[in-house]
Order: sequence, then C-alpha cells, then structure tokens
Amino acid sequence: TFKAILIDRDEDKKQSLSHADLTTDDLMDGDTIVRVTHSTVNYKDALAVTGKGPVIRRWPMIPGIDLAGEVVSCDTGVFKPGDKVILNGFGLGETHYGAYAGMARVKADWLIRQPETLSAAEAMSVGTAGYTAMLCVIALERHQITPDRGPVVVTGATGGVGSVATAILGKLGYHVIASTGRSEEADYLKSLGASEIIDRKELSEPGKPLGKERWAGGVDAVGSVTLANVLAQTKYGGAVACCGLAGGMDLPASVAPFILRGVSLLGIDSVMAPKSIRELAWQRIASDLDRSKLASITHEIAFSDIEQATSDLLAGKVRGRLVINIAS
Ligand code: NAP
Repeated sequence: TFKAILIDRDEDKKQSLSHADLTTDDLMDGDTIVRVTHSTVNYKDALAVTGKGPVIRRWPMIPGIDLAGEVVSCDTGVFKPGDKVILNGFGLGETHYGAYAGMARVKADWLIRQPETLSAAEAMSVGTAGYTAMLCVIALERHQITPDRGPVVVTGATGGVGSVATAILGKLGYHVIASTGRSEEADYLKSLGASEIIDRKELSEPGKPLGKERWAGGVDAVGSVTLANVLAQTKYGGAVACCGLAGGMDLPASVAPFILRGVSLLGIDSVMAPKSIRELAWQRIASDLDRSKLASITHEIAFSDIEQATSDLLAGKVRGRLVINIAS
C-alpha cells in the first residue's frame, strides 16, 4: 500500500480531506505507473485542498498537479522501469488522481523525461509555477522583448511564478522591476535578480487608461486591476504575459494600450500546453535558471505538512517554492 490524500465532498458540497492507504488497484486508468518521490504546492493546489477555488472536477480526488518520480511500469513501452519523469498539469489533481500519493497511474503521453541536470526535488522546486514562469519568458522573447528594449515588470514577485520569473529574467540580462506587497523581501528579490522593487499598491488601485511608459514587458501572476495598470504603463510595442489571477479573475482595462501603443497581451496556459513547448521550457529551465537561486527560493516540507502549507500559501505567508518529499 501507499499513502494518499483524498479530497471528497458531501451532498451540500462541503469539502473534506482524509488520509488513506491505497493500492494501485484504487488508481484511475492509465498506461504508466509512477512511484512519486516529490511534489510541490502551487497556488492551484492550495485552492484545491482548501476548497477555496473550483479546481477539483471529479470526486473523490487525490490533489497535486505536479509530480516527479520513477516509472514502475509502462504499457506503451515509451518508458522503462526506473526512468525519471515529471508531470505538470494535464488535469492531474483536477480530473485525474494526482501527486499527493505514493503512486500515480497516468498516461505516458503526459510525462516528460526529467532533465539530466535537475534532480527530482529541483524539478518540483520549479514545478508548474516555475515552468509557467519560463513559458512567460519564452512568450516575451517570441515577441522580441529583449533586454535592450527596456525594463520588464514581474507582479506577485515573491510568489512561485514571480520568484522564478525574476531569477530567469535577471540571469538573461533584463532589468527586472519586481512588484510585491512584501517590502521586507526586497533583499530576497534583489538577490534573485531584481534591479528595482515597487510596492504592489502602485498597481492595485484603478488608474488611467494610459500611464507613463515604464516597461517594455511584463510577467503578470496577479490579474485584475494590477494587470490593467501593467498594460497601461507598457511602452509602445511592448507585451505582457498574463498567467495568473492571485489578485482576481477580472480585467478592468481599456483598449487604449492595445490600439494607441500597439501593446500585446500574451495568454499563457501551462495545463494543456503542447509537448514541444513543454520540452523547450524544461530545457530552458535547465540552462537559464541558476541552481543556487533555485535553492534559495525553495523550502522542503513533509507529506504531513501539505494541508497547513496550502492555507499558508493562500494567506500570502509562503515565499518562493515548496517541495514535498513524498516519502517523508
Ligand atoms: P503564489 O506563490 O501564491 O504567488 C502569488 C503571489 O501574488 C503572492 O506571493 C503575492 O506576491 C501576490 N498576491 C497574492 N495575493 C494578491 C493580491 N490580492 N493582490 C496582488 N498580489 C497578490 O502563487 P503561484 O503558484 O506563483 O501562482 C501565481 C498565479 O499564477 C496564480 O493565480 C496561479 O493560479 C497562476 N498560475 C497559472 C498558471 C497557468 O497555466 N496559467 C500556471 C501556474 C500558476 P507578493 O507578496 O510578492 O505581492
């Protein structure tokens, strides 16, 4: 048997969490069994476990949207027993039993080989949050937002997406303006690669349709008024990668930045991203994310800490990334 976290809900849709001992017979259909060694806690995991957001779409569910581990068996023959793999998204922990368990049965198609230069713990330290940060950076590059075009702003900078985006952009030579509600973390953000820190209040109050042109691009994990203000202050021809909703799902913006400054809004989805872009993102993570910086944003927790960690994350008490050692 192996341990697992199960989330269920009653007829009144009240959610409950339990710890269960399961066997592989209890798992959902799939062609590949993976021994899960590490996972992580993303914003989406926190919404799922606490029930504060509609992430789980099948009940009961084993939550956890990211896993790293070793293949036990693979009916397709694509992977051999012992191969080291990672899985981000594809409905894991939402519609398909997820990562917060000792074993997972999944589809080989969803798996990516762990880059050789990353350990399982490092891959989960990156996790969906970090891989999404990389997708945002790639989107900006494809839009020719190079370091010489001017600064880039990162919102929610001390969070998972924000911390990794700051580290990658800093390493690539961008002048990173990190927006955070945690001014006490200024030194942390500078050590990651930020050149300037701004208070998120500067961006969280409704502003003008067009403001002073401050940055050539941005990585936005916050959404809502913050994203509207980021767009309004983007330079002519700039682009903003939008990936999150930590501040709200709405977008109270005007078309002015788009039609008067040619600004582009680049939508980023990590869950169903095609394999080619996933593999590219993981290769780029292996080459463009400083390992010591990754270590400095990472905090390891035990399996028994998951529930507490999810409420801490939503309360804004978690800095950077959490890695779960599933065997602990
Ligand atoms: P996280 O670690 O909780 O980071 C979110 C950060 O946003 C917080 O650390 C905080 O940073 C800031 N923040 C929180 N509440 C805020 C508010 N009310 N107003 C303004 N800023 C606020 O979460 P994460 O894992 O990095 O994920 C960030 C967002 O990206 C989430 O919405 C998540 O769902 C989304 N996401 C999307 C995808 C995708 O495929 N599109 C993939 C991964 C994540 P400061 O304290 O520094 O201000």
